[in-house]
Amino acid sequence: MKKILFVSSEAHPLIKTGGLADVSGSLPKALHELSQSIHLLLPKYQDLKITEPLRHRCMIRIDNREIHILETRLPDVHVPVWLVDYPPFFDLPGNPYSDAQGHPWEDNLERFTLFCKVATEIAMDRAHLEWKADVVHCNDWQSGLVPALLNLEKNRPASVFTIHNLAYQGLYPAEKFPTLNLPKQLWKPECLEFFGMLSMIKGGLVHADHITTVSPSYALEIQTSEFGYGLEGLLHHKQESLSGIINGIDTKVWDPKTDEHLVQNYNFNTIKEKNANKIALQEQLSLPINKDIPVFGLISRLVEQKGIDLVLECLPEMLTLSVQFILLGSGSPDFEQRLHNLALLHPNKLSVTIGYNESLAHLIEAGVDIFLMPSRFEPCGLNQLYSQRYGTIPIVRKTGGLIDTIEDALPETLANNTATGVAFHDASAGSLMEAIKRAMILFYNKATWKKLQANCMSKDFSWEKSAKEYLSLYAKLLD
Ligand code: ADP
Repeated sequence: MKKILFVSSEAHPLIKTGGLADVSGSLPKALHELSQSIHLLLPKYQDLKITEPLRHRCMIRIDNREIHILETRLPDVHVPVWLVDYPPFFDLPGNPYSDAQGHPWEDNLERFTLFCKVATEIAMDRAHLEWKADVVHCNDWQSGLVPALLNLEKNRPASVFTIHNLAYQGLYPAEKFPTLNLPKQLWKPECLEFFGMLSMIKGGLVHADHITTVSPSYALEIQTSEFGYGLEGLLHHKQESLSGIINGIDTKVWDPKTDEHLVQNYNFNTIKEKNANKIALQEQLSLPINKDIPVFGLISRLVEQKGIDLVLECLPEMLTLSVQFILLGSGSPDFEQRLHNLALLHPNKLSVTIGYNESLAHLIEAGVDIFLMPSRFEPCGLNQLYSQRYGTIPIVRKTGGLIDTIEDALPETLANNTATGVAFHDASAGSLMEAIKRAMILFYNKATWKKLQANCMSKDFSWEKSAKEYLSLYAKLLD
């Protein structure tokens, strides 16, 4: 049994802004089920949805600040969660990184630096918790300083740093470094310094014993200038200790057989029942009721990474076809406005819901026929996994985790029952439109469509396999 400290800035269902939360909620659970002693470390935000008992564990002083460590559990499971309670930094309304208007908190650097210092103290068993980690597993830039700080320690735990999205690096003005009370030796180009900026993510990339990405293809892509953001040289240099492990999904939360957000549960044997969700969705969103029309869905942060500009370019042509399109998302005000305007012009074909809505997301996954993920890059992607489990066929761009999880429907993959979606190559509206038309042809061929649904719904997306891969990585590092 290994003692693992899993350090993350968000974890479902306590708090979530994106895929990082899904992973941080499910992977610790899967490792716990593999009999590991895992503790999840999170900041104690105001909006945490805590349902289990909460108790005080200890107080530590860092940089003249009094920080309390509280303990709770992930809802319904026995994964202990330690919460870093420092109200001036974390007891704020809004999401972990920004206020209600979407402006990043001005002191994010200070907030997550403190979080990393606390994680290091806990990992080294200096926080009066009587628990010393064997492995510290850090995630994204918010925990990037932990491997750097641990590297300055004797008898330290092994460290793993997972990149969930290299586009977010925690870059701050260099002048901030002296204000953070960090060891001076961390300030050099082969450490936190990055072209005159302070880079939080570099702390993890340079110092972790091993770097993982959330898919094997993304681990290769980030070693190229197209996806590396200037870090490709460093990542290529570290290729021996860089690998990809594909994300699983929480198969209890995302299960069409039991999902309580659906109006009708189903499995492959009762796939016809899926239509009840389609009709409920059409009703709820005031679209014409029509169980035979192909309905496309998209749930996403509305940012360029997700190819929303390509969708906007395609929509005028797409909406001349006999289709419906249901979109749920929030993000760039420009994308939100343009989508909203188009929906006003096409109320019978396009439904746009701006906002974050977990329940509607589940109903969309069940109710639509085809799910769009035309991402420019995608470290892993989760919605294409949910879609497959719900018998909803994904259209994806061939990038990152989408390459690793979707087999394009071609004559040979259809013949050998491996096809699970429609994949296209170029990040262009033309290629996306072609893929949409290809999916529609498949949709109208009922036998082929059912075969695709069978291929998708019989795949194993559970965390167990990936958790075992993480476990053997930890074992290798401890050897
Ligand atoms: P990313 O982490 O880059 O946003 P992922 O596909 O890895 O993308 O994960 C996104 C997660 O957030 C999925 O669980 C998706 O369903 C969810 N999500 C994104 N936008 C919304 C929204 N507006 N409402 C509900 N869920 C959303």
